[in-house]
Amino acid sequence: MARLPLIAGNWKMNLNHLEAIALTQKIAFSLPEKYFAKVEVTVLPPFVDLRSVQTLCDGDKLLLKYGAQDLSPHDSGAYTGDVSGAMLAKLGCSYVVVGHSERREYHAEDDDLVNRKVRAALKHGVTPILCVGEKIEVREQGEHVGHCNNQLIAALKGLKAEQVSNVVVAYEPVWAIGTGKVATSADAQEVCAALRAALAEKYGAEVADSVRILYGGSVKSGNISELVKQRDIDGALVGGASLDGDEFSKLCALA
Ligand code: PEP
Repeated sequence: MARLPLIAGNWKMNLNHLEAIALTQKIAFSLPEKYFAKVEVTVLPPFVDLRSVQTLCDGDKLLLKYGAQDLSPHDSGAYTGDVSGAMLAKLGCSYVVVGHSERREYHAEDDDLVNRKVRAALKHGVTPILCVGEKIEVREQGEHVGHCNNQLIAALKGLKAEQVSNVVVAYEPVWAIGTGKVATSADAQEVCAALRAALAEKYGAEVADSVRILYGGSVKSGNISELVKQRDIDGALVGGASLDGDEFSKLCALA
């Protein structure tokens, strides 16, 4: 099955709403309209910038998608500071990142919470970009494949096969995020292939074939081509390089 590649720019906690508008415009207008039929591109700004990006994308009928970096597992209620999947859906978000290693690390998010967030996103029609990935110690012990597969299966617990088809998975080795140390394309392919095999075993070959699996970790215009040539890599989750409009557009064009 042909899977539409996805390039997702995770802005993390960067850019105010004016900077967000400028970057969105730069990306949207650097890529020719026909490009978007071949590759999907989404920006993932901080919550406070979403409304500005939405106004720009919807108003100008831009083909660029947008989404958020996190969501609450709850629909509404007394959860000060949280943002629900329903709110993201109302703002027209296509995607939401779930289980990013920075949230697992700094907000103590465990597999159970990640699972509840994946369900919340799907419930509201926002596609979760589910992040899995190992720390360097785990890789050094040769346990990276098992570790990532366990994170994947735990995050999808209780979902029906047809729901799993609507999840995007991102393999993000923690040691490669923001460090400049990109995984080799063979290393990235090894884990992405294993993730797809785990999906096939649990949900069937058709579902596994339909799920997009991204690689994330120090992706740049200089390494994207090699990564997306790999059979099981369907695009990238990009952090640092997504904050530079020229670099991100170049990277997208090469994907
Ligand atoms: C990320 O934040 O998901 C990421 C992959 O960051 P970077 O591209 O900066 O390594």
